[in-house]
Amino acid sequence: MRHRTAPTGRRARFFWQGALILLPALVLAGAGLYSLRQDDVLARHEAGEQAQQLATAFAQRLIPQALRFELPEEAVVQRPATVPEDEALQRGLRSPVAASAILTDTEGRLLYPPAPSALPRPAPLDEGELTTGQQDAWLTLETTWRGHTRANRPDLDVFLATEPPERFAMLARFRTAMALAKTDPGPAAATLLRSVRDAPENITGESGVPLRWLAEWQLAAQLPEAERAGPLQALAARLLLEPSPMAHALLTRLGPLHPSMRGWERAQADHDKAREWAAVLANEPSQTMIVFRGQPHMAVRQPVHGGQWTVAVPLEALTRELQRLDNALVRPAAFGVAVAAGSQPLLPRPEGHPSLAQATTDAFPLTVEVFLRDPVAFAAQRQAKTLRFAALIGLAAIAVVVGYFAAWRAFRHQQQLSEMKSNFVSSVSHELRAPIASVRLMAEELEHGAAPSTEKVRQYLRFIGQECRRLSAVIENVLDFSRREQGREQFDFEATDVAALVEETVALMRTYGADRRTSLTIVTRGTPMPVVADGRALQRLLVNLIDNAQKHAPEDSVVTVGLEFDESRIALWVEDHGPGIPKDEQELIFERFYRVGSELRRQTQGVGLGLSIVKHLAEVHGGRVRIRSEAGQGSRFTVDLPLVRAPHPHPEPQPA
Ligand code: ADP
Repeated sequence: MRHRTAPTGRRARFFWQGALILLPALVLAGAGLYSLRQDDVLARHEAGEQAQQLATAFAQRLIPQALRFELPEEAVVQRPATVPEDEALQRGLRSPVAASAILTDTEGRLLYPPAPSALPRPAPLDEGELTTGQQDAWLTLETTWRGHTRANRPDLDVFLATEPPERFAMLARFRTAMALAKTDPGPAAATLLRSVRDAPENITGESGVPLRWLAEWQLAAQLPEAERAGPLQALAARLLLEPSPMAHALLTRLGPLHPSMRGWERAQADHDKAREWAAVLANEPSQTMIVFRGQPHMAVRQPVHGGQWTVAVPLEALTRELQRLDNALVRPAAFGVAVAAGSQPLLPRPEGHPSLAQATTDAFPLTVEVFLRDPVAFAAQRQAKTLRFAALIGLAAIAVVVGYFAAWRAFRHQQQLSEMKSNFVSSVSHELRAPIASVRLMAEELEHGAAPSTEKVRQYLRFIGQECRRLSAVIENVLDFSRREQGREQFDFEATDVAALVEETVALMRTYGADRRTSLTIVTRGTPMPVVADGRALQRLLVNLIDNAQKHAPEDSVVTVGLEFDESRIALWVEDHGPGIPKDEQELIFERFYRVGSELRRQTQGVGLGLSIVKHLAEVHGGRVRIRSEAGQGSRFTVDLPLVRAPHPHPEPQPA
């Protein structure tokens, strides 16, 4: 059974192979474009999520961190401070956003700063409480206090020995000390004041002020300035913890005694302000936004062990702090942050900028919004990115399609070539078979036939010779071609007499011409001269052209071989009056294996290599082949060669 591979089958295979390349590429491109669209949706979603994270971080981490004040525990606030900076409220108010603060217990009672005690009531002395003896001693002392007599310790001791009530005893000590201080600069006054300083709280002077404060103040005032600071600090700290109008007045009078006292005045002002804050809060216990001293404040509550601090944060200071946080925040450039306290914007969101995400703080009524700073630029940026990728995908898809068609053309070309090659093989076989068969027939006739006439023998031998030459010509062309394909060609460029070469070749080809009953003539123009060329190659070129002309020329026609010399070139042409070559095939006939017409209808012999060899040999000599032909008008093939003069020219032919 015979099997043939139809070219259409190969084509179908190529189509499917191409589809296997094209289809995934186009599917990928489609999927790429689709996922680009999805990507856009995803990017918007991601931006929303990122904005949400940012808003939550700002509201629930950064703001609480900024508003977490350094406020001491209850136990600490009760301890007297040694310097005003160490005082509990002063410490708490170091935060840039705290204007005031109060500490309350779990029931909401004010723990710090302490509530002031009532105004001390004047408590006049009732001398009726003294015995007669005590009264006498008291009167003696009074005269020393008034300065009538000099104050002295023995008089006091006499009074104390009568064991008077404690208030009288302390007052006597205090007043004697004051009188002694004026007259006696010794240590006696200080010793007395020190004993009064340790008196209980309820022992007051006639004005109602505790005597121990007065003693303490006097003790400090009497010290040299360098030693005053310590005792004065201690007194001030105590006065601050036990506030009253008297304590207030005393603290104010401590100021001039030592420069370090100024801090205490400030601390006292802070305490007054905090008590004011407490009073305002008491009216609006659950409010967070409170007008305090004419300014809007936020009440920030911070629990501590056993109670809670309530800090007054002015909205102005809060806004400044929020701006600082906003500036320090690490976030994508496209995002902006807006903060509002209730309905009041602190960091406002510009109009027309959509909010992407919101979050609220837990402890305060602050709402944080993250918005797009420049929605137009954001959209444009996204769009540019999408377009860039879409263009890339489009280009890739186009490249695949173009590649497919390029491959398709290359495949078609290869297919044509392979068809031509197989035609070539059949042509060569045919070219070889016909002469061999006729040679064999003639040889058999000569061997076995009746005794042939001498004339017949000669004719047979001439035919055999012609067929053998024809065979050699075909084989020569095939070998030439194969040498060229394998790059094994060799040329010998030397001085060549082209005119003689043409004549010799024409003479050789006349034999074929006679066979086909065409005649060959030579036309020469210009002055023939030797040139540098490969003579054998030029002869092969000419043989092919003349052979073609003879093959196609009608019977009894003339084939003309022309040779023209001019200044710079040689034109070598062969002209016949054959069928000519259609215009659209004039280029193609120079391709290897190409033959005009279908393989079956072809009348002439040949394998389609002749003209490709002619073209190649012309190019090897730096020349080219032109064709001038009209259908039915014959053809002229002209080989233009550059004129390369031989260095040792033969003697010029003498004019006849
Ligand atoms: P072939 O061996 O077939 O002659 P060639 O390469 O020499 O191969 O020529 C290619 C084709 O060009 C030929 O098949 C023929 O059809 C056409 N051709 C060549 N020379 C002539 C001519 N002088 N007149 C008409 N057709 C020609």
